Amino acid sequence: MTKYMDEQNIREIEARLDIVEIISESVQLHRRGNNYWGLCPFHPEKTPSFSVSRNKQMYYCFGCHAGGNIFSYVMKKEGLDFKEALELLAAKAGIEIALPRDRKSTDKRKALIAVNNAATQFYADILSSEKGRAARAYLEKRGLTPESISIFKLGYAPDEWNLVEEYLLKKGFAPEIIKASGLIKRSDKQNRFYDLFRNRIVFPIFIYNQDVVGFGGRSLGEVLPKYLNTAETELFSKRRNLYGLAQGRESIRENNSAFLVEGYMDCIKLHQAGIKNTVASLGTALTEEQASLLRRYTERVVVLYDGDEAGQRETMPAIKVLGAAGLQVEIVSLPPGKDPDEYIESY
Ligand SMILES: [Zn+2]
Repeated sequence: MTKYMDEQNIREIEARLDIVEIISESVQLHRRGNNYWGLCPFHPEKTPSFSVSRNKQMYYCFGCHAGGNIFSYVMKKEGLDFKEALELLAAKAGIEIALPRDRKSTDKRKALIAVNNAATQFYADILSSEKGRAARAYLEKRGLTPESISIFKLGYAPDEWNLVEEYLLKKGFAPEIIKASGLIKRSDKQNRFYDLFRNRIVFPIFIYNQDVVGFGGRSLGEVLPKYLNTAETELFSKRRNLYGLAQGRESIRENNSAFLVEGYMDCIKLHQAGIKNTVASLGTALTEEQASLLRRYTERVVVLYDGDEAGQRETMPAIKVLGAAGLQVEIVSLPPGKDPDEYIESY
C-alpha cells in the first residue's frame, strides 16, 4: 500500500469512527466534564484513571501513561501492528482499503479462512460423534475436559483418505482453495489428492480474532511423525504464530507475563488449570517473529519447557531470542522426565 493511500485511509477512518465508541466496546466509560473515564485496560486498577477525549479523539491513562489515538489504542489493545489495526478499523468504518492489485490476495485469504473454519467444525463434529469415540477416550486419558476441547475447538480426523476433501467440495468450496489450504496433499505416484490428517487429533491454530489459519495433527496410532502441521500458506506461517495466543492474550496482558511451553497439550492443560497466560511455540525452535509477537502483549516470559533432553536443549536458544526481543525471561526448571502439565497436576 502506498503512503498516500495510507494517509487517505487514515483520514477517512478518523472521519467515520469515534474513539469514544470504539473504546466503549471494551471499557465501560462514564462522562465527567469534557472527558470520558473508565478503568484502564492496560494496567490493573480499582478507580478510573483512564480518560478519553471526544474533542481531541485521544486517550490517556494517568496511572500507566498509556496514551494515543484510535489507531494506537487498537494496536495496543488487540496486539496488532499498524497495518492490521488499519484493516480492522477500516472494516468497522465500512471502508474498502485493498488496492485493486491487493484484491486478489485479500479474496484468497478470506477463502482460505472460510475453508479452515469449515474444516474445524467438520473435525469437531466427528470428534463428538460415534467415529470419535477412541479419540475422545485418548483426550480424556490425557486429562482434557470437554470444556477445554470446546474452547480450543479440537477435532478428530478418522483413518480415511478423502473425507475432508469430499466434505469441503460438497460445501461448495473451489478445488483450488481446498488444495491451497494444505488440508489435502497430492500423491505423486497416483496423481491424486488425499487428506493430510488421518487418524489424528486435530488442533486448529487461531489468530487474534479466532479465525483459523492452520492446523496441527497428532497421530493416534503408530504412524510417524507424531505431530504434523498443514503447509505454509498465504495465511499460515508456523514461525509467525503462537498456539494459545487467541485464547490467552487477555490474560497475558492482565498478568503482564506469559508462560511459554512446547506442545499443544501442555498449553491446553495449563489453560485448563487456570493458567490462561500460556502459549506454545508450535513445535519449532522459538523464532524472532514469535518473540516479537509476544512482546506486543507482555514484558515478561517464563519458559517452561519439557524436562527431557530435547526440551533442555531448546531452552537456551529460546531465552536468547526472547531477550533480544526486549523481554524479561525466567526459566522454571522442571524435574527431569516431567512435562509441564504433569508438573502442574502434582502441584
Ligand atoms: Zn493505565
